[in-house]
Amino acid sequence: MPEVRVRFAPSPTGYLHIGGVRTALYSWLWARQHEGTFILRIEDTDRERSTAESIQIVLESMRWLGLDWDEGPEVGGDHGPYVQSERLDIYAAYAEKLIQLGHAYRCYATKEEIAEAREAHQRTGTKEGFRFQSPWRDRTEPPADAATPYVIRFRAPQEGTTSWNDEVKGRIDILNSTLQDFILLRPDGMPLYNFGCVIDDLTMQVTLVARGDDHMINTAPQILLYRALDAPVPTFAHMPMVLAPNGEKLSKRHAAVGVLEYRDMGYLPDAVLNYLARLGWSHGDQEIFTRQELIEKFSWDRVGSTAGRYDAKKFLHVQAEHLRMLSDADVAGRTVPFLAKRGIDVRAEDPVLLKAIPYVKPRAATLVDVAEAVDYFFRDVEPEEKARRKFLVPGNADNLVRLADLIEKIEPFDKKLLEERVKSWLEDNDLAMKSVAQPARVAMTGRTQSPGLFEVMEVLGKEKTVQRLRAGARLAAYPEQTTA
Ligand code: GLU
Repeated sequence: MPEVRVRFAPSPTGYLHIGGVRTALYSWLWARQHEGTFILRIEDTDRERSTAESIQIVLESMRWLGLDWDEGPEVGGDHGPYVQSERLDIYAAYAEKLIQLGHAYRCYATKEEIAEAREAHQRTGTKEGFRFQSPWRDRTEPPADAATPYVIRFRAPQEGTTSWNDEVKGRIDILNSTLQDFILLRPDGMPLYNFGCVIDDLTMQVTLVARGDDHMINTAPQILLYRALDAPVPTFAHMPMVLAPNGEKLSKRHAAVGVLEYRDMGYLPDAVLNYLARLGWSHGDQEIFTRQELIEKFSWDRVGSTAGRYDAKKFLHVQAEHLRMLSDADVAGRTVPFLAKRGIDVRAEDPVLLKAIPYVKPRAATLVDVAEAVDYFFRDVEPEEKARRKFLVPGNADNLVRLADLIEKIEPFDKKLLEERVKSWLEDNDLAMKSVAQPARVAMTGRTQSPGLFEVMEVLGKEKTVQRLRAGARLAAYPEQTTA
């Protein structure tokens, strides 16, 4: 097999859509599996919609996902530049070559002429789509005014069939009679998508082109361009779109679609890749894959030819599984920025954070959940209003003071001993665990839900535990008082 060279070629017109990420991922997996080359190319020829900011979002998204590119912006490579708007001289040279070869021509038709032809076509009442037949296709003499602006059109064959064996869709045959003399270059020298894409894939020696199946209409024209240039045609793999649960094309209206939104929601890059990989590809019944497993197991023949539907619940489940696969220290490190967002400034090595992680990890799905679950270890608690009204009531004040008195004397301060002592104290005093546990929990955490009581105590440490129990007791005794 020749060296695998694959590329991801986003148009930087906004956020990086998770459907696009899936395309990038499959190509990246293919490259890594074959120790090939993964190229990132920016297709920014739509000058009105492309922005420098979007390019940065693409790069940031790819970096966050760990989809590293071997050639492309910021990395360089032997086939650059990797931004289309910087490659205009290359397109011009190839367009000229196609003209020389007789496969392209300068078309001086004006907008008005084309509009007229379209109207005439519509007047015939035919259902067939409009295809402009340029009078310049067969004309040899230039226009009277040499300065007349022109586009360069491909001289598309009008007979025969263009076929390819798609890695995902199988064999596809397109009648050339359905194609038109599509434009290669605009008057300002900007290539149209099909031309820019082919010249780039050809000069970058791409061996396999993976993209969404919305591009299938472009593939026959592209193959014709390769043939016209006597260049090898790459393999194509067209993936079905990612659909919303209701079957529509997945958009902002249905879910978070910009991949960085998942970063901000506390998802892990590997979980995002795992979920997206499975959305359209399968390997038996396996749902959870490490990045390495994806690299090893990915294959085009297991990519389904029908669209996968986005399922937020499943995605969150995959995320939770990946969170549990991380070491506590790793989770701590990744939680730090989310704590910073909450105004909590701790280091990844913070001993309280490290002690808390194993207790909160089993109940959390995202890093945002982890940050929210450890929040109260790092700031004074202000009990939630409802919890306070229910549990920090005068009848519980006394028990909280007694519990604090008891706990103050316990040494070493570990959860096992705490549990033992507290339980025997409850027994001796004929108290039910539940009459003390919830008020104590609210006093220590401000909430009605948390890890085990003694785990929380151990993480908080003796001083803070006692202090919070006493503060809780005061609040209970004087319900009108505020914590401030
Ligand atoms: N710029 C195109 C897109 O974002 C790339 C299509 C292709 O991969 O050929 O849809």
